[in-house]
Amino acid sequence: MIRTRIAPSPTGQDVHVGTVATGLMNYAWAKKNNGKFVIRIEDTDRSRLVPGGEERMLTTLESLGLVADESPLAGGPFAPYRQSERLPLYKKYAEELIAKGKAYYCTCSAERLDEMRKQQQQNKQVPKYDRHCLNRQEEVKKEIEEGAKFVVRMLMPDEKISFTDTVRGTITIDGGLLDDQVILKSDGFPTYHLAVVVDDHLMEITHVIRGEEWMPSTPKHVVLYRALGWELPQYTHVSLMRNPDKSKLSKRKNPVWASDYLNRGILREALLNYLALMGWSHPDGKDIFTLDEYISLFDIKDLQTTAPVFDPVKLEWMNGEYIRMMNPKRLAEMVYTYFAGVFSKDLVEKTIPLVQERIKTLKEYESYCLFFKEQPSQYEISLGEHQSMLKAIGDELASLDNWSSETIGTKMVETAEKLGVKNSIFFMVLRVAITGKKVTPPLNDSMAILGKEECIARIARLIM
Ligand code: GLU
Repeated sequence: MIRTRIAPSPTGQDVHVGTVATGLMNYAWAKKNNGKFVIRIEDTDRSRLVPGGEERMLTTLESLGLVADESPLAGGPFAPYRQSERLPLYKKYAEELIAKGKAYYCTCSAERLDEMRKQQQQNKQVPKYDRHCLNRQEEVKKEIEEGAKFVVRMLMPDEKISFTDTVRGTITIDGGLLDDQVILKSDGFPTYHLAVVVDDHLMEITHVIRGEEWMPSTPKHVVLYRALGWELPQYTHVSLMRNPDKSKLSKRKNPVWASDYLNRGILREALLNYLALMGWSHPDGKDIFTLDEYISLFDIKDLQTTAPVFDPVKLEWMNGEYIRMMNPKRLAEMVYTYFAGVFSKDLVEKTIPLVQERIKTLKEYESYCLFFKEQPSQYEISLGEHQSMLKAIGDELASLDNWSSETIGTKMVETAEKLGVKNSIFFMVLRVAITGKKVTPPLNDSMAILGKEECIARIARLIM
């Protein structure tokens, strides 16, 4: 049984798009193999917790359709799925490691560690715990019994440590270079290294597919697996997404939270489709495909090791493609819901056919269609010098009995001819007079929807 997981830490506002991208791979790999996809919350770094972060993260993942078979929300056979509720387990395995001589207590004070680091820096040595406590464990235990604060450190073996990554091959590291990492902190919480190993083992995770930023930690995890006599999962480290200028994704350049994109009116299908292309390509070079198609084609072996570029402009383009493929009724429903009733259902239904080809996000509907709801407050060209044209337009429109996009169109072409004004100028003036803007949905259709009275009123208010 293939079991995958993501293990996000609730240290941000919401779920990071990078986590969604790896989440999608983990989800697809589990679904493709009739396995299980697990979400575990890694909340052991108490100082970095963001209030409400976990809840928002889980809700967003669920709304994206990355629904976990086992999670803090869904429960499951290996519950709890939140590390802060599993502390006794980490303690137990830390003690087991100590008993096996693979870990040890340390009561060094922060001041001593600082001093040690300073010395090492001065001597140009790699900063590393100097094992001061390792050689005096009996004494350390006494100090602990008397109430001293302590941590547990793993004992890094002075030997080669190897593991195989699905796409990066065998990676070997000299254990002698690694620090005796703290695995249990003085507050009783484990560090990431111990917690991730214990949980991935107990939760029977077979494939760890995670960002490459965790790769330097993997040798430490391998040491812990070996020390506890456990089998390693299959590791796959995926390349981190970059900005188009190749810099690291950061809030300063583009939004990084998945909900930022959903809030801008990116559809969940489009977001997932775009993220599926971050490190993976469709065998036929297709850009657009369904989640089911992705699941059936996806293979961790095909993941690329070059850093994929996350380009919000391309994402919007793709979203536009999804919008065009949608059933107009469904799109109208979504736009209506997106604007939470700001635009009436009737207006949205009537106007969607005019803008479906043009909008790239749900939010863009507003910039195209706000004029249906409100008279323009600004005009993109000055209309002062077109008084006589506006008067003539007003009169001709008033004389129309049958108000439809066809009759409006014919009448307006006739009027332009009568006035001897070039169509391009005539319709620009009319467009801006009615909508305020130079670029709008088709004008005759828009005027038909706005209604005769409203169009005439909009022209009249421009006549001085
Ligand atoms: N807690 C880590 C994170 O925030 C999990 C890394 C892993 O997948 O092992 O992403």
